[in-house]
Amino acid sequence: MIIDSHAHFEPRMLELDPMLAKMDQAGVDRVALIPAMNDTLPHTPEKLLALMRTLMQRAPGRAVAEAIHRALLTPEGNLRLQGDIYEIYARPDNDSVAAALRAHPDRFYGWMFLNPRNNPKVLDELEELRSIPGMVGIKLHPHWHDYRTELLNPIMRRAQDLGLPVLIHLGFRKRGAFKDLCEKFPGVNIISAHAGFPFYQDLWKYGRTVHNLYVDLSSPYIDEALARGAVEVMGAEKCLYGTDSPYGFHDGEDTYDYGAIKGWVERMPVSSKEQARMFGGNFLGLINA
Ligand SMILES: [Zn+2]
Repeated sequence: MIIDSHAHFEPRMLELDPMLAKMDQAGVDRVALIPAMNDTLPHTPEKLLALMRTLMQRAPGRAVAEAIHRALLTPEGNLRLQGDIYEIYARPDNDSVAAALRAHPDRFYGWMFLNPRNNPKVLDELEELRSIPGMVGIKLHPHWHDYRTELLNPIMRRAQDLGLPVLIHLGFRKRGAFKDLCEKFPGVNIISAHAGFPFYQDLWKYGRTVHNLYVDLSSPYIDEALARGAVEVMGAEKCLYGTDSPYGFHDGEDTYDYGAIKGWVERMPVSSKEQARMFGGNFLGLINA
C-alpha cells in the first residue's frame, strides 16, 4: 500500500479525475488531502528554493530566510510575489476535501485544516469536521497563518484527548516551537511537514530523542539529500512519504509528476520493510487504521 501523506486538494491546478489518473499511473494507492489555504501560486524558481534550503541549514541563515519570508507577507497576512497579491485564506476550504472523501472513500483521506488565529470557534469546527468519515487528522500552518505555536494549546489538548495526529507546517522561532509542542503534548503524534522545515537537522536530532515527532518527506522545500538526511538521523519509522502535490516537481507538460519523490524513497539505502513503513505503514499506524 503506497500512501501519499501530504497532498493539497487544489482543483484549480489538478482536478480529482486527472489526480486519480496520476495516482494510478505512479502506483499511489491513496492520498491524504489538505484543504486549499491560498490562491494558486506562480511556480517558485528552483534557484530561489535552493537558496532558501541552503540558508535554513543553520541558525544564522535561518534568520535571513525568515526576513525574506516576512518581506513577502502583507500587513493583511497575504503573500506578495513578483508584484502580485495572493490571498491566504483564514478559513481553509475543508468542504471540498469532504466532497472528495465522499466521492472516493477508497482513495482519499482528509486532513482537517484548522486556524486558531482570531477564531474562538476553532474547537467547534474540529467537532463538526471529525464527524466526516475519512477525516483522519489535523493540519496546522503557523508559518502562513502567522501565529505562535503556543496559540495551539487548546487544539493540541483536544487532539490528545481524541488521539488525532497533527500535521504541522512549522514557522520560524516561536511560530515553530516544536520542542514545546512535543513535551507539552506527549500523547499527540506530530508530523513536521517538509522534513522539519525550517529547522531540518536541528529538528531531526531532537526528533530522534522523543517518541512523538515525525516528518514527512514532501515538497520542493526539500531535496533528495535532505530526505535522506532525515531518514538517516530520525530513522525510517519516523518518516512518511508525501508529495505536496500539485506544487512543485512539474513534469514535461507542466502538470504534476507523482514519480519524483517516490523515486527518492525507492532509491534510499534502507530495507524493504523500512521502505514499506515510509510508503504507508507509518501513516496507517498514526491514524490508528
Ligand atoms: Zn504542503
